Amino acid sequence: RPILLWFRRDLRLADHPMLHEAVRSGRPLIPVAILDPVAEGWGAAARWRWGEGLRVFGAALAARGARLVLRRGLAAEVLAQLAGETGAEAVWWSRAYDPAARARDVAVKAALRGAGMAARSFPGHLLFEPEAVATGQGTGYKLFSAYWRAASRLDPGRPLPAPGALSVPASWPASEDLAAWRLGAALRAGEDVLRHHSAPGEAAAQARLSGFLDTRSARYAERRDFPAEDATSGLSEYLTYGEVSPRTIWSETARAGGNAKFLSELGWREFAYHLLHHAPGLAQDNWNRDWDRFPWRGDNADAEAWRRGMTGEPFVDAALREMYVTGRMHNRARMVAASYLTKHLRTDWRVGLDWFADCLTDWDPAANAMGWQWVAGSGPDAAPYFRVFNPVTQAEKFDPDGAYRRRWIAEGRADPHPDARAYFQAAPRAWALDPQAAYPVRRVAPAEGRQRALDAYERWKTLK
Ligand code: FAD
Repeated sequence: RPILLWFRRDLRLADHPMLHEAVRSGRPLIPVAILDPVAEGWGAAARWRWGEGLRVFGAALAARGARLVLRRGLAAEVLAQLAGETGAEAVWWSRAYDPAARARDVAVKAALRGAGMAARSFPGHLLFEPEAVATGQGTGYKLFSAYWRAASRLDPGRPLPAPGALSVPASWPASEDLAAWRLGAALRAGEDVLRHHSAPGEAAAQARLSGFLDTRSARYAERRDFPAEDATSGLSEYLTYGEVSPRTIWSETARAGGNAKFLSELGWREFAYHLLHHAPGLAQDNWNRDWDRFPWRGDNADAEAWRRGMTGEPFVDAALREMYVTGRMHNRARMVAASYLTKHLRTDWRVGLDWFADCLTDWDPAANAMGWQWVAGSGPDAAPYFRVFNPVTQAEKFDPDGAYRRRWIAEGRADPHPDARAYFQAAPRAWALDPQAAYPVRRVAPAEGRQRALDAYERWKTLK
């Protein structure tokens, strides 16, 4: 009897514990992907990028004689239906750790077992299962340094090889058409714009990893904060959709001579899931509930200018425009842009969290929430709220020759960078942006914005 392999954020063949075990079972395998309400709830860029990943992964399966069966609907119902059509009596998947997916998976497991089927979940998305790293008291860590000290002592094990040909059923159940899912329909910038900046799939991930280890890794620690440079790995979108496993990155980095700083950044990804495991509310609520009383502004006109990359603060605008056009934003720029929204514009971090979730092709439910709460000051091990990034000095320090800002700001330039022009072409018509118009005046002077933030912080301290 066949096994249904339900693929979600694990679109790879190599180092895939579930697939490895399935192949060893010798049973026919039916790979399935389901467009269910959880996936439909993702942001526009994430949905599109997942679809790109499915396309490439489907082709990789086809090269091994298998197919990726696509169905839309409630996961429990789709899986029961497929079991009826194929005679499968087991459904396997790789574990997901964010609250929405976890709640779904618990319900799916109960429904399948209730119907007499076997449901089994596997690790693979993380180096270490979130509960595998625990303090002496058996609780979770709140500080990254202590977490990573403990986690680094564990052995993630060796990556598993990719399987050869897959055992397949005598006949295949019908599949829906990926194009008919229209996963890119909600993209404001359009699929062609993002496609230009994204190369989906396992082979592309592997090439990106080798390229990084061969050339950029040596200067990573020194240059990773400069957004105009291609100095980081660019692996986040591959990790998000499981096109490479963190264990493969870990072991190949070790083989290439190691890189403690880079691996500790991978550790932040692990830490984000560790935090989310112990406090699922992290994804939406202030981790420290004292912040519920902070006088955040809800969505507002300044925040809208921020979303459009029209605040008049060049480093911040460059960051927002970069994300809009490429689906990515450099980490330093994420920190400065998030600080500007939550401090200078005193806007609730969830307004920014939602915009990032809609625009990032590497959107990750744990890293995004942890990143925003870190910047806002409401999270565990967070930067204190009174530490306000100055967008001008940050730009002077990390974009000293202005190359990053020039790449994204077209206004006032006779011959703007093609990416700066692309931003205006990709922006929604309703925004009525004009590259010939003058660059907007600052919505708030850096010093004034900083003072406003500090005043709000002082008020809040008397309330908490
Ligand atoms: P590298 O520097 O090459 O790092 C290697 C890997 O380590 C990354 O691919 C990523 O998986 C992980 N990593 C690095 N930095 C962090 C970090 N601070 N937190 C968690 N993991 C990290 N990352 C996402 O993957 N998805 C998000 O939605 C996301 N949202 C963020 C929101 C804010 C406000 C902030 C401040 C950071 C956010 N990050 C997010 C973290 C970080 O900015 C990106 O992981 C990084 O820029 C990706 O580029 P890279 O792959 O070249 O990273």
